Amino acid sequence: MINEPKIVEIKEIIDETPTIKTFKFDWDMETLGRPNPGEFVMVWNFKNEKPMSISQINDDEMAISVKNIGEFTSHLHDLAVGDKIGIRGSYGTGFNNSFEGKNIVAIGGGVGMAPINAIASDLIEKGNDVDVIAAAVTKDELLFADSLEKSGAKVHFCTDDGSFGFKGFATDCLSDLLEDTTYDYAFVCGPEIMMKGIFDILEEASIPAQYSLERYMKCALGVCGQCCVDGEGWRICVEGPVFENEKIYKIEEFAKYRRDASGVKY
Ligand SMILES: Cc1cc2nc3c(=O)[nH]c(=O)nc-3n(C[C@H](O)[C@H](O)[C@H](O)COP(=O)(O)OP(=O)(O)OC[C@H]3O[C@@H](n4cnc5c(N)ncnc54)[C@H](O)[C@@H]3O)c2cc1C
Repeated sequence: MINEPKIVEIKEIIDETPTIKTFKFDWDMETLGRPNPGEFVMVWNFKNEKPMSISQINDDEMAISVKNIGEFTSHLHDLAVGDKIGIRGSYGTGFNNSFEGKNIVAIGGGVGMAPINAIASDLIEKGNDVDVIAAAVTKDELLFADSLEKSGAKVHFCTDDGSFGFKGFATDCLSDLLEDTTYDYAFVCGPEIMMKGIFDILEEASIPAQYSLERYMKCALGVCGQCCVDGEGWRICVEGPVFENEKIYKIEEFAKYRRDASGVKY
């Protein structure tokens, strides 16, 4: 059960935005398993290990997209092609592909676009009509919007400062779209405050959805209990990180608080 990290060589690094880089590496799907969109891996830099969503799943390679916000992620940003990292996993429930209809909206805020990119690409490949709301603080931080547009998604760009596309939050953009259209199903990942706003709008519109959550993680195996959420006590690493809308009601701390590395609420 406690699988060792697989040591992989970074084969490509893409500077996506001033703060986000994508790291591509080979992954033998046959022996190591093919991840589902929405699953995550534990990334080891030979000092520490942290969870990262899988942002791209190709035939024999996958990618993670990392926002530089602290010691670990800044170390990853300093790596070069040919450097090695450890990858453990993949873990988590991933997005569930059994839903009714084919008219989908996938909503990502900031680096939350990482798992949204994986699921949106998969849904397009499977013949669904996919609208993507790609939200960021400013134009330079929009992630994957161009590549998703090329792959066939209808992308609604959205920036807080109005530097590109719709001016406002992802919630405002969704409300705007829902004035003229509706969707059968939605997939959402981003800051929890954004997901709460989106959740309220989608629930009001009776659009079922799946939400990808983050909590501080250590083992990612469901053993340490670090990422348990109040309510049902679900472990984000095993029962999550993706939850359907009915389950979100039972996560009492959703958009209210979370716990730091020592378990203290903040
Ligand atoms: C399921 C899941 C998927 C994630 N996917 C991505 C992704 O695709 N791209 C991305 O850039 N980030 C992702 N993250 C967040 C990423 O793990 C943290 O941003 C990263 O660990 C920060 O480390 P740091 O040392 O650079 O920053 P620090 O300064 O140590 O931490 C900054 C913040 O990052 C969060 N964090 C730190 N350590 C952890 C940890 N062990 N587990 C969870 N959160 C932590 C905390 O909120 C903390 O306040 C994901 C987290 C989870 C739980």
